[in-house]
Amino acid sequence: MAVKKLAILGSTGSIGVSTLEVISGHRDKFQVVSLAAARSVEALAAQAALHQPGLLAVKDAAAADQLKALLPTGFKGKVLSGPQGYLEAAAGSGADLVVSAMVGAAGLLPTFTAAKAGIDIALANKEALVAGGSLVIEAARANGAAIIPVDSEHSAIYQSLMGQDRDGIKRLWLTASGGPFRDFSAAELARVTPQMALDHPNWSMGPKITVDSATLMNKGLEVIEAHWLFGQSFERIKVVIHPQSVVHSAVEYVDGSLIAQMGQPDMKAPIAFALSYPQRLALDLPALDLAQVASLTFFEPDLERFPSLALAFAAGRAGGSAPAVLNAANEIAVGRFLEGRLSYPGISACVEAVLEQNTSGSPASVAEVLEADRWARSKARAWVEDQGGSP
Ligand code: MG
Repeated sequence: MAVKKLAILGSTGSIGVSTLEVISGHRDKFQVVSLAAARSVEALAAQAALHQPGLLAVKDAAAADQLKALLPTGFKGKVLSGPQGYLEAAAGSGADLVVSAMVGAAGLLPTFTAAKAGIDIALANKEALVAGGSLVIEAARANGAAIIPVDSEHSAIYQSLMGQDRDGIKRLWLTASGGPFRDFSAAELARVTPQMALDHPNWSMGPKITVDSATLMNKGLEVIEAHWLFGQSFERIKVVIHPQSVVHSAVEYVDGSLIAQMGQPDMKAPIAFALSYPQRLALDLPALDLAQVASLTFFEPDLERFPSLALAFAAGRAGGSAPAVLNAANEIAVGRFLEGRLSYPGISACVEAVLEQNTSGSPASVAEVLEADRWARSKARAWVEDQGGSP
C-alpha cells in the first residue's frame, strides 16, 4: 500500500503512544505529518525527533516555548499552539488519516474539522461522538470522510459488520470488563479510593478512562458512541459484563447469529486495524490460545450499583445536549474524585444532578455543543462545592 500520512492528535497519551509503537514496526507504510499534545512537551519533543513531522501543536504559547527549547537543532517542522494549532494539525498538515486521540471535549473541534475536510478519521476520542455525534457524523458523511473506530468494542462491531447487510442487524452487544468493583456491595463502593479505581484488571489506560471503566460510565459513553457510529437505536444496544475481555463485542443478526471479534485485550490491535483498514498489519502480540482461555463468562450489568450506565442510556435517549452535559459533568466529577474531593458514589450523583438541571435543546453547531459542555462543567463544579468538596 502507498505510504499513509498520519496526523496524531493526543500523541503523548496512552492511545497516541501505542499508535506510534504500532507504526514503529511498520515505518515503510506510514509517515507522521503532525503530532499534537497538551503540555507533555518532553515526550512530544522525543516523538518529534524520531518521526520528524512537519507540524507540532501544543495547548498554549508557554508549552510551545518549552517545546522549542527541547527540539533537536535542525528540526524543520512548524510549532503551533492553541485551538488553531490543533485544527492545523488535523486538517492543514496533508494527512490522509487523523488519529483522534485527544482526551475529552478538546478533541471535538479538531475531529469535526477533519470530517469537514473529508479526511478519514481513526477515532479514539469517544467524547467527540458523545457530545457532537450528529454534527460529526453528518460532516463525515457529507464530505466523504470515513470514521474507523479505535475503541476496542467499536472496532469489534465494525469488524463484525464487514460484508454484512445492515438490514440484517438485530442488536449490538457491547462487552464490558465490569471494572475492578463489579462484585462490590453498595457499602463497599462508598469507600472506593482513587488508587483502588486505578488498579484496572485487564486494560492499561489513562486515569480518567480507568475510573470511567470502574463506574461503567465508559461503557455508557460507548453506548452513545455506538449509536452514532452504527446508526442503531438505544433499544438495539445491549451491554453485557464479560470479565475476561476476550470477546471485544458482537453483532446479533435477525437469523439469530452472533458475529463477534475476539483477541488479546491490547489496544494495539484495534489501533493497527484502524490505521491499516482494509488491510491487516502483522503485530507482535501473544497469540490468543482458546484452549488456554478455557472458559468465558457473561452476565447482566447491575444498574443499581452502577447508576452511571443507566444515566448514559437515559441521556442518549433524551438526545439533544444531554449526552454533552453527561460527558462534561462526568469529566469534572472524575477529576474531583481523583483529587480526593468527591466520593466514588458522588461521581454519578453529580452527573445526575447536573442532567436534571439541563433545559437546553439540541445544539445546532459545535459552538453550541461546547457551550453546553461549559455550562455542565460549571454546574458540576458548583455541585461538588455544595457537597463540601470545595474549593
Ligand atoms: Mg472501549
